[in-house]
Amino acid sequence: MEQKSSKSLQKLSELRREHKGLINLMPLQTGGILTDAARVALMEFGDGYSVCDFCEGSLCNVTNPPIRDFVQELLPPFLGCEVATITHGAREGKFMVMHSLAKPGDSIIVDGNKHYTTVVAAERVGLNVIGVPNSGHPEFRVDVNEYVPLIKKHAPKLILLTYPDGNYGNLLDARRLGEIAREYNIPYILNGAYAVGRMPISMEEIGADFIIGSGHKSMASAGPAGVLGMRKKWEETVLRKSGTYSKKDIELLGCSIRGVPLMTLMASFPYVKERVQHWDEQVSKAQWFSAELEKLGFIQLGEKPHRHDLLHFDAPALYEISKRVREKGYFLYKELKERGIWGPQPGLARSFKLSTFAADRQQLGFVIDSFKAILNKYS
Ligand SMILES: *Cc1c(COP(=O)(O)O)cnc(C)c1O
Repeated sequence: MEQKSSKSLQKLSELRREHKGLINLMPLQTGGILTDAARVALMEFGDGYSVCDFCEGSLCNVTNPPIRDFVQELLPPFLGCEVATITHGAREGKFMVMHSLAKPGDSIIVDGNKHYTTVVAAERVGLNVIGVPNSGHPEFRVDVNEYVPLIKKHAPKLILLTYPDGNYGNLLDARRLGEIAREYNIPYILNGAYAVGRMPISMEEIGADFIIGSGHKSMASAGPAGVLGMRKKWEETVLRKSGTYSKKDIELLGCSIRGVPLMTLMASFPYVKERVQHWDEQVSKAQWFSAELEKLGFIQLGEKPHRHDLLHFDAPALYEISKRVREKGYFLYKELKERGIWGPQPGLARSFKLSTFAADRQQLGFVIDSFKAILNKYS
């Protein structure tokens, strides 16, 4: 027993990551890869509470390191909002808003492609979640006009749109939903976990009340980190302070991310702000890659032509192979890994998601050739 536990302890002091250095196509990871500046910040601020050297009671007001400038000067124009704050992640941002604006038993209306964290956040508040169904296979589109009858029927406290969703990478008509939100006077949350930090996006232009981003998903941050932007009219509701400690946000339990998550988010921000300007190139890269995989017999799900780097494919040929090989669905993971590629969830071959965001065209060409080689090998 004693010996076993010392072995386990030994393992903890030698933690290593298996997929380091491979071509990374995993949708969760491609927008969260750190910049060199963030890697420096990671070491510099790695010690616990190191951001609090000069804190006077409120994280977002710290001037050294320049957190206040980041939150007050840089984030609002980037998000197209009036007031911004820092959260622990997209899910915590959604929870904060729901918890501030709705009470147990209230309803909210969300798109059918919602992320699971939307539902869990709503459950934590005690809300009823009503979904607007998608059109089903293969495009899974949601017509935002279908929010209207549900708004009339359920009188929701909030509506939410996932932009894009994390399953198909569909970009729905967010502006139209903004008009609907104004017409019926219902606060509108835009969940931009896969948008903020990847593509240009503006809460104001879309006509939402809240915009939510994820630092580790799309802003080159170690995380867990998130950003929440809002109209000024919601500041007093969502960012209300403790009655006892006047500098402490209630919804953030005083302060949000205290250290490396925030410092890496800030260190990467100049790069992230610049990279969203090259979104057109990202989209054409994704469309080219998708067309090449379709030539191999894979079927791209979601909108076509696609407007996001998150791609979901049905792969009937790979599924057939997985049924007759010893490794079952894991054969694809194994074959790709041997070629230096990390992407589809291990075990999945029938349908899988990939993101082209972090790989360049040359690497993606190699990925396409690798899929060809794998199909040939087993044919
Ligand atoms: C990843 C993801 C989230 C969760 O993001 P966190 O920052 O980890 O909470 C929420 N919504 C969507 C659409 C996502 O893809």
